[in-house]
Amino acid sequence: MNQAQRERYSRQILFAGIGEEGQEALLRARAAIVGCGALGTFHAAALARAGVGSLTIIDRDYVEPSNLQRQWLFEESDAAEALPKAAAAERRLALINPSVRVRGVVADLTASNVAELVGDAQLILDGTDNFDTRYLLNDFAVSRGVPWIYGAAVGSYGLTMPVFPDRTACLRCVYPDPPEGVQPTCDTAGVLNVITSLVASYQVGDALKILSGHPELVQKQITTVDLWEGTTRQIEIPLRDPDCPACGRRLFPYLDESRRAPARLCGRNAVQIQERVQTLDLAELKSKLERLGEVRANEFALRFFVAPYEMTVFPDGRAIIKGTSDTGVARSLYARYVGQ
Ligand SMILES: [Zn+2]
Repeated sequence: MNQAQRERYSRQILFAGIGEEGQEALLRARAAIVGCGALGTFHAAALARAGVGSLTIIDRDYVEPSNLQRQWLFEESDAAEALPKAAAAERRLALINPSVRVRGVVADLTASNVAELVGDAQLILDGTDNFDTRYLLNDFAVSRGVPWIYGAAVGSYGLTMPVFPDRTACLRCVYPDPPEGVQPTCDTAGVLNVITSLVASYQVGDALKILSGHPELVQKQITTVDLWEGTTRQIEIPLRDPDCPACGRRLFPYLDESRRAPARLCGRNAVQIQERVQTLDLAELKSKLERLGEVRANEFALRFFVAPYEMTVFPDGRAIIKGTSDTGVARSLYARYVGQ
């Protein structure tokens, strides 16, 4: 550590739980943040300020005005430009702490890219808003023996649970399958901004223990909080299930690359399509679509308005189609306007 670093992180070094040795470990640490919404922006800002050496931030979405109430890294200009969250986060973090290596990845985390994107992380933080990605993360983390920290928030309620593969129960020990049916989401039930930062703080607290070299200090508990009710509960994580498909039988169906299918984005009247990974030339697509309707494009995304739909197309071939929850309609629009 040099003198500037000693000064910058002095209050963290003074804290006995971390100290100089812990800070050195943080400066060398590598973490991945999956999902850069309310939870993920808080994780990223806190870990960057704490001096964590390398952060990979993966998010598939772009900044919208309705995000600004709770997504701590973003500004009005990001929403006006419809910047991808991973790109906006990378730009902002460079202003907060330029010594942190930040890799913002604009992508949907899938079985095909999970190893490449989070394979070198010592720890994965869950900032996602969907169970598909969490089960993928759990399969990946258990298969590689990497700790990850589950977090979720909606309304005024949130919960968090650390997973240490082979030492504590994993997500599938506790919840063998994703929940069925309609689940409340931030888009349908709303959310208080500070429940997200509270849940994310629990996650970052655990992350700092793990990355500073003290994973044994992480409480093996599920924490649930309701900020409106003013209640906090901590319960022991159940014992590992020896018959758990993931950490017991070591079956990892979420890592099967053939699972990729169009996904309804719950509560948003939108569908995400990625028929296959391909490289799209957005400038070329823009010139093609300009004759057909309003198009806005930058290097990260192209947005095309074709009433009553709105398509956002990314350079990796992925698209989000708003205005329908019908995957067939969405695939048809994709085929008509983007081609396959
Ligand atoms: Zn398990």
